[in-house]
Amino acid sequence: MEVQIEDPSGEIKHLRHCINDLISVLGLPVIWSGSEPFQIIRSLLDTLLSMLRLDFVYVRVKEPIGDAPTEMVRVAQSREQVRSQEICELVNHWLGDDHLKSPRLVRNPLGDDELSIVAVPFGLQGEIGIIVVGAQRRDFPRQTERLVLSMAANLAVLGLQEARLRSEQKGVASELDRRVAQRTRELGHANVELRKEIAERQRVEAQLRRSEAFLAEAQQLSRTGSFCWRVATDEITWSEQLYNTFEFELGTPVTIERIISRVHPGDVPMMNERVESARTCGEDFEYPHRLLMPDGSVKYLIAIAHASLDAEGRLEYIGAVQDVTQRRLSEEALAKAQSELARVARVTSLGVFTASIAHEVNQPLSGIITNASTCLRMLTADSPNLDGARETARRTIRDGNRASEVIARLRALFSKKDITIEALDLNEAVREVIALSLSELQRHRVILRPELADDLPLVTGDRVQLQQVILNLLWNASDAMNTVDDRPRDLLIRTEREEGNWARFSVKDAGLGFDPQHMNKLFEAFYTTKNEGMGIGLSVSRSIIESHQGRLWAAQNDGPGATFSFSIPCRPDTKVQ
Ligand code: ADP
Repeated sequence: MEVQIEDPSGEIKHLRHCINDLISVLGLPVIWSGSEPFQIIRSLLDTLLSMLRLDFVYVRVKEPIGDAPTEMVRVAQSREQVRSQEICELVNHWLGDDHLKSPRLVRNPLGDDELSIVAVPFGLQGEIGIIVVGAQRRDFPRQTERLVLSMAANLAVLGLQEARLRSEQKGVASELDRRVAQRTRELGHANVELRKEIAERQRVEAQLRRSEAFLAEAQQLSRTGSFCWRVATDEITWSEQLYNTFEFELGTPVTIERIISRVHPGDVPMMNERVESARTCGEDFEYPHRLLMPDGSVKYLIAIAHASLDAEGRLEYIGAVQDVTQRRLSEEALAKAQSELARVARVTSLGVFTASIAHEVNQPLSGIITNASTCLRMLTADSPNLDGARETARRTIRDGNRASEVIARLRALFSKKDITIEALDLNEAVREVIALSLSELQRHRVILRPELADDLPLVTGDRVQLQQVILNLLWNASDAMNTVDDRPRDLLIRTEREEGNWARFSVKDAGLGFDPQHMNKLFEAFYTTKNEGMGIGLSVSRSIIESHQGRLWAAQNDGPGATFSFSIPCRPDTKVQ
């Protein structure tokens, strides 16, 4: 552009002004640094207003920047508020025309004369908005003024960008802070939860430890150990008590072979069989077995286990093994005591039985004496009767044998003898007892009616013990009829076969009977209603029958008297021939 210099000194002055203005403008970024967009725009407008001696300066931004309004105006005069509004409206009107590409003159809205107005883009392409300035001066805008104007606008753009960046950074930082705070809160919360969980876990663990201690103690007290056997892998887990029972070192691996090495040789085949069938059948099992310990002692155990499938459907057993050695020994001791008691009871009864025994032995003895005398007479006769003597000698021998049989039977019944379990004919045992008691019963005017079944199978048991029970029931029945004089002293002795392969023996008397309220008392030890009674007959009899897996009971008859019966299992598939 061609510049005409009419007044060089004025121009120099002007240029100096301009340079000063430019220097001031260049200092603006320092002032704006750290300012908000609103402050930057306002400061830009104020600077331009005063620096270019404008009447008004107006800015409009396309998008709101921070907290700055989209339109802002500064006017040189007072009453700024009213005029600002008017100027905004006018500028919008002017801008609507042709975007004020070049300066133009308009009527001065602030006075009567005209205004020279010019618009410059705010931002390189006007991307931020537009700045419109106006001055009454005719020479406005001079080239230097346009330079100052656009330079200030561009620097403001940089300031705004920096402010925007800062605001974005601030936003990012605050978002970051927010997220950090939120995450911290979440972590804090999670931490609290975690602490709670840890506390809960510690509580549960403590409880578990307590339960385990209880369990271990209970296992020790009950001498019961537990185990788990995973069949597919033969993995066996044992509780501490089981290690103690087997006397294996705690924690050492347990295998089937190792277990069997402790089993009593007599039970090993059974044990092997059980293990195999448990492997293949997958059914619950329960069996007693013995251990032979290194010191030669024997332990009696009962193993019981429940079969189940694990999460993968593989067979496993969970079970318990109880050491019943103590119980077993106590039972044996009890059985021994009972059998001793039974013997004492038998011996005590011996006195009552003496007459009967005397009769039983006397009969063959007098036969022997008679026959021996006859034999002597026959031999010492003038013509000895040898055939007769032979015959009477034979009878003597027969009676001698009969007497010794009676003695043998008595000895068996009253001697101290270990229990012998054998197959026996109950009818025969009953007959023997009847034979021994016959004369005693007759002495008491008892009318005996035996009804012994023909088809009675063999039973398994101890002959002497069962005969003791039968004898006891017979005597009790006889005792119960001692005072009966108004009716026959009928005594029905019956054996019969019961359904389910059982044999029943019963004694039905016509005695006084018993008070049904005392039914259970009758079987209690030392309960007696007799002057010379001991009250142990029925209690011992009941335990004998129970040890034969049977039962003994009493019932009142429809008529007078009572019936005492016992049932015991027959040997499987056997019959009396
Ligand atoms: P004891 O014969 O020494 O009394 P038991 O134990 O044999 O002892 O009998 C207990 C009691 O049961 C008898 O005292 C009697 O009261 C009652 N009792 C037993 N058998 C009969 C019976 N056949 N009839 C009525 N009572 C009986």
